[in-house]
Amino acid sequence: MKNLRFTIILISLVILCLSGCKNVSSSSLTPDYVIVIHGGAGNASNRDLNKEQQEEYKAKLSEALSIGEEILKKGGTCIEAIEKTINFLEDCPLFNAGKGAVFTHDGKNELDASIMQGWDLNAGSVAGVGDIKNPISAAIKVMTNSEHVMMTGEGASEFAKLQNLEIVDSSYFFTEKRWESLQNILKAKKHGTVGCVALDKYGNLAAGTSTGGMTNKKFGRIGDSPIIGAGTYANNNTCAISATGHGEFFIRYTVAHDISALMEYKNLSLQEASDEVINKKLLEVGGTGGIIAVDKDGNISMTFNTNMMFRAYAKSTGEKGVAIFK
Ligand code: ASP
Repeated sequence: MKNLRFTIILISLVILCLSGCKNVSSSSLTPDYVIVIHGGAGNASNRDLNKEQQEEYKAKLSEALSIGEEILKKGGTCIEAIEKTINFLEDCPLFNAGKGAVFTHDGKNELDASIMQGWDLNAGSVAGVGDIKNPISAAIKVMTNSEHVMMTGEGASEFAKLQNLEIVDSSYFFTEKRWESLQNILKAKKHGTVGCVALDKYGNLAAGTSTGGMTNKKFGRIGDSPIIGAGTYANNNTCAISATGHGEFFIRYTVAHDISALMEYKNLSLQEASDEVINKKLLEVGGTGGIIAVDKDGNISMTFNTNMMFRAYAKSTGEKGVAIFK
């Protein structure tokens, strides 16, 4: 009897020690939090963006990043970090989302946004909205306060009003630069969009994307950004992804979900899966663009097949970076 009791205590001690060791090793490998953002990808070169403009973009990316990082550092959730980071980018006229949204063929602004959380695969999105100041916040409300995943146009605006979100006159989205770029369209294929993915202290992943779409798009056109699985995807078993690029390709190739699926079913690493989809599948068919992603262990990917992608990241370990070109 005594021997049996001793053996049970010994086994319990071994189990305790092993589970303790596992926690130590996984926490030393996985950062407490990670945040990655993008401000769109494209084929602009050093000549299209002078040094001063590059510095301006980098400063805004850093500012946006630090908003999300502060939230995560203080124990905020990945959804809170993503919303506030994207709100900042939406309010900044430099990026093609919110205030800086590009114009459609007939001179309007039609904005798309989506959010997805990785622990329960809940998601929300709005598409083709013309008067919601911060579409990412509306997407979050669709996720949390409705039984739907996607709402469009006037219905989405009506819903946003009921949720007490800020509604603006469509003239709010007029910026000289975007108007000019509609006039000069086809000079260069430009992409925009903003996105943010995060891993928070609770081990949860989420992804958000917000865009004005593509300059000169036809009335009613919806891109990949509000489509779960195409422009945005998050799953705690794999990763969180936000995409930017030629939306029609990202929809047809279900880019964000494809990357997650390669990790889930084929055990590819985040970088291998991103390369497979962005630098092989998409490249072969002429689908230009890129993604930002973070996996459940805090590894990140910022992969694009264009000349540049505005991007920045920060980890609790102190690693940080902001870049535009390859
Ligand atoms: N993916 C966006 C769209 O097709 C545009 C972009 O990311 O530049 O609407």
